Amino acid sequence: MRISAAVVPERNHPFIIKPLELDAPRPDEVLVRIVAAGLCHTDLSERAGGRGPFPAVLGHEGAGIVERVGAGVASLQPGDHVVLSYLSCGHCRNCLRGKPAYCDHHMAYNFGRRRPDGSTTLRDGAAAVYGSFFGQSSLATYALASERNTVKVRTDLPLELLAPLGCGVQTGAGAVLNTLHPFPGSSIAVFGVGSVGLSAVMAAVVAGCTPIIAIDVRSTRLALARELGATQALEASAGDLVEAIRALTGGGTDYALDTTGRPEVMRQAFESLATLGVCGVIGGAPPDAELRLPYSELLMGRTVRGVVQGDSTPALFIPELIDLHLQGRLPIDRLITVFPFAEINQAAAASERGEVVKPVLRMG
Ligand SMILES: [Zn+2]
Ligand SMILES: [Zn+2]
Repeated sequence: MRISAAVVPERNHPFIIKPLELDAPRPDEVLVRIVAAGLCHTDLSERAGGRGPFPAVLGHEGAGIVERVGAGVASLQPGDHVVLSYLSCGHCRNCLRGKPAYCDHHMAYNFGRRRPDGSTTLRDGAAAVYGSFFGQSSLATYALASERNTVKVRTDLPLELLAPLGCGVQTGAGAVLNTLHPFPGSSIAVFGVGSVGLSAVMAAVVAGCTPIIAIDVRSTRLALARELGATQALEASAGDLVEAIRALTGGGTDYALDTTGRPEVMRQAFESLATLGVCGVIGGAPPDAELRLPYSELLMGRTVRGVVQGDSTPALFIPELIDLHLQGRLPIDRLITVFPFAEINQAAAASERGEVVKPVLRMG
């Protein structure tokens, strides 16, 4: 079928919205009319180079309405409202253990820009266009997803509000609620409060953490973090952060979370831990990044834990996050700025300049 998609023709090129041909759904696939799609840091880093071929259609925070389902899809039907998330195989050891974010095929299925069998879903005339990004490529008016990464949601909430649940929000909130699961009254420091870090701050409030310390280079982000429940806000440039966090927590924080992917910030996050503290690292770093840690501090029961997609099983966790939102405990609307699809390059630029926290494109 004919669709309209934001194509990245080559590395580092602006998005170009143009008509493409999208395959009909195969037996295990779901055709979704995309209503809204969040723009995530990973879309922009993959546009800048990334791991797959060009021309490509990115986008991995799609939300929309099921248009058609393949003959083998039992759990979804046309008209269902859905949020799309990351793809996993369902058969490997970690999928079977209920840890699909660590699927053996995570990189190929989410970053390979092809279906699991290696085929492509999109064409521009006779030429292949590489889609299937996170099993969706949702920067488009329609996307082909799999039953496994398509999460049915309630129909009474705007889809532009729900779109970021599929990656950014579940990544930040899940790192707190699924991975660290801090006990009430424990302290947490969140390094970097973009959409992922702010989702972590909101989740830390849900978990009953105190103090909740937000750290960022931007004062506007810190002000928003305070409004969303951070009890303290520290400018990343202001003095010795580790000392400041130790002072605020009486010797070190129980939990720290790095969302920046910068090794020097991860080290600060680790050094701010109390004995037995746990540091989650969830930011995207260059593939060759290395982390150096002081062994004597690690030995004292401290943990560094990498976290992918907030350890989320999307079909379980996304509806839980929606319930928290409806209770007023996850005000994700505060993160979102909606742009028309035609303004995708302006949305990307505003995000890179830090003027908006979570741009969401409305296909309209
Ligand atoms: Zn798997
Ligand atoms: Zn993402």
